[in-house]
Amino acid sequence: MTSPVLSSLPQSSPCALELHDVTRVHGKDARRVTALSHANLTLRPGEFVAIMGPSGSGKSTLLNLAGGLDVPTQGHVLVEGRDLATLSVAERAAIRRKSIGYVFQDFNLLPSLSAAENVSFPLELDGWNPRKAREAAMQSLNEVGVADMADRRPEDMSGGQAQRVAIARALVGPHRLLLADEPTGALDSNAGMTILEVLRTRADRGAAVLLVTHEPRFAAWADRTVFLKDGRIIDETGSSNMDDLLNLEERGA
Ligand code: ADP
Ligand code: MG
Repeated sequence: MTSPVLSSLPQSSPCALELHDVTRVHGKDARRVTALSHANLTLRPGEFVAIMGPSGSGKSTLLNLAGGLDVPTQGHVLVEGRDLATLSVAERAAIRRKSIGYVFQDFNLLPSLSAAENVSFPLELDGWNPRKAREAAMQSLNEVGVADMADRRPEDMSGGQAQRVAIARALVGPHRLLLADEPTGALDSNAGMTILEVLRTRADRGAAVLLVTHEPRFAAWADRTVFLKDGRIIDETGSSNMDDLLNLEERGA
């Protein structure tokens, strides 16, 4: 049963993502861990939100719940106004593929495919025609600065180039919600900066972006920052305050 509040939301809710009183508990009895506790968060299209907090504070849990990769113990997660808990497995999978882009620290490219094929592959699996998928792949490779790698296989690229191709694959297609869990962790600083630029540009063009980072200089690119501690959202700061806090003169400085 959906609550009256949720069922009264219009079909075309203006929110890209809503977390309503979301709690996630792992394990039982003595092993019980509350990874996230009564979290409320709303992202509108075009909003870029950073999540910061110590290790174990629930950042990845929040992101996985937002992306439908995990389900809450209590509360509701809505993507574009649709409560993920009310959808069938197939419907949830379709939202994950079509609406949501995930940038994680996973750089596994398929070794027998070229860069362009690696990037267009998920689109083709999703039924795109090969020419359109190739166009989208080229656009995405271009966005992260490796369009010239399009026809090379992973073994013929540097590690940094392969990382960028993997990011292009994560970002390919018209995703309206982008989730990034410390995507810069394993990257050289140039590639890290490229991701931040791409995420910011996507937000400026209307995508909602949720970025987990432990680096204040990356969080400074966001419109606001949410701080987590022991599974609870303890504070939200607009980036102007954040700038004051960090004494940054410009974004990315
Ligand atoms: P963060 O990403 O901020 O480091 P996580 O969201 O990964 O934190 O984890 C939050 C808490 O939940 C931690 O105490 C972690 O050990 C626990 N946790 C996360 N996933 C699981 C799981 N699958 N089983 C048991 N405990 C978990
Ligand atoms: Mg984490």
